[in-house]
Amino acid sequence: MWIGFDDTDSLQGGCTTYVATEVIRRIEYDLIGFPRLVRLNPNVPWKTRGNGAIALQVGRGGGKKIEIGEIEGRKIFCYSYKKEDADADKLAEIVDEMIKEYSMSDAQPSFVITRKKLPYFIYKKAVKSVVKKEEVKELLKKEGAIYRGYNGGRGIIGAAAAISWKPRDRTYELITYGKEKWLNKESVIKMDKSCSSTFNNYDYENDYIALLPKANSPVFYGIRGDDYEELKKAKEMIVGAKEERWLIFETNQATDEHLQRKKIRDIKPYESVIVKGIVKKAPHTIKGGHVIFSIYDGNEIECAAYEPTKQFRNIIRQLMPGDEVVVYGGVRAKPFTINLEKIEIRKLVDAYRKVENPICSKCGKHMKSIGKGKGYRCPKCGARAGEEEAKYVKVKRELKPGMYEVPIIAMRHLTKPIKRMKANII
Ligand SMILES: [Zn+2]
Repeated sequence: MWIGFDDTDSLQGGCTTYVATEVIRRIEYDLIGFPRLVRLNPNVPWKTRGNGAIALQVGRGGGKKIEIGEIEGRKIFCYSYKKEDADADKLAEIVDEMIKEYSMSDAQPSFVITRKKLPYFIYKKAVKSVVKKEEVKELLKKEGAIYRGYNGGRGIIGAAAAISWKPRDRTYELITYGKEKWLNKESVIKMDKSCSSTFNNYDYENDYIALLPKANSPVFYGIRGDDYEELKKAKEMIVGAKEERWLIFETNQATDEHLQRKKIRDIKPYESVIVKGIVKKAPHTIKGGHVIFSIYDGNEIECAAYEPTKQFRNIIRQLMPGDEVVVYGGVRAKPFTINLEKIEIRKLVDAYRKVENPICSKCGKHMKSIGKGKGYRCPKCGARAGEEEAKYVKVKRELKPGMYEVPIIAMRHLTKPIKRMKANII
C-alpha cells in the first residue's frame, strides 16, 4: 500500500518529513523500500516552504533488510519486496490522526492511500510545471484511491505526485530530529572531506553549514549523498547534540528533474528550463546587487543572478554580448526572467579594448567621440568616422568556458551539483 502526504508544514515551521517519522512510528507495518522525500516544482508561488512531499510503501516486508533509522529507540528497517499488503482503512485512520496533530494551522495538508502506484506523468508534471487539484482528484477517483484534504487540501497534488515518482536518478538524505541543536563546524568540514559521496554539507566560500535547516523546524540536520551506507558513517562523524530520531529518505533532490530544454519562445512562467543562447544585453548590476543580462536564440529573454547567489555573480558579470551560453534556472512570471541556478559557458567572443581614436586623414588630428556607439568627428574639419575605425587591441578574457553553479548557500533542493553531473558523465 502506498501512502502519500504533503503540505503539513507552512512558512511558520513544521516539517512533513517529521510527520513521516511519526506515521512510521505508529503503523504496525514494514516499510517496503526507502521512505521517499519528493521535491516538486520550486517556482510555483503557492508552494510550501521546502516543497517536499512524502511517499511511503508499507506492508509485510521480505527479502533484503536495510537499517535506515531509529525512532524512539526503535531501529527502523526497510525491505526489498512486499510479501503481504497493508490494510488501507487502518492506515487512513493513523495518517488522518497524524496530520491533524502535526499540521500547522495555515497549511493545507492532504493524504492519498492507494494499492496501485500512480502513473508517472503526475510526478513529471508536478516537478516541471503546474498541476491543478481537480486534475489530480479525477485521477485518484479513477484509480480507486483513498484521499482526504484539509483546510483546502492543496497538498493533494504533492501527495499524489510523491507516490507517482519513479526514481530514475536518485539521492538520499539522512535527516536527524531533536530539540537540542548544536553541532561542531569542524566536524562537519571533516565529514565533508572524508565522505566523498555526500554533497552540499558546507559552503567554504560563504562559511555556511548547509546541513542545518533554514527555518524553525523539528529537523536538527540533514546529510545528502549518493550512498546511503556512507550517510550513516557521515552521521557518526558529526560532533554535536544527540539526535532524538533519524531516518534516511530516498529523494529526487540534486537530480535536475525540474528542468526542461526549451527554446525561448516556448518558455512559460513557473517552469524550470535549460536554454541555449547568445548573450545579447551585457550584464549590469541593478539595485539590491542583482545582476541582469539577456540571451537570444531568435527571441530574447532576461536572465538574473540574484544577490543571494553571491560569488556566482562575479562569473556572470564577465559575460559579453556574443558569448554562447546554456542557462539553467527557474522562470519568474514578473518580471519574466530566468533565475539562474547554473550556467554553461560554451564559447567566448574575442574582446577588444580601444587604445586610440581614429585620426583625421585631412588634418592628421585625433578625432573625438560623438557619443557611445555613435562614431567620431574631427574637431577641426568636422569629418566623420565610424566606431570600427578606432584602433583596438585584443584583450585576454579571464573567464574560462565551462559549467558554473551558484554557491551551496543559494542552491535549490532539486539542482544537481556539478559534482554529481561529472559523476554521471563518467
Ligand atoms: Zn579633420
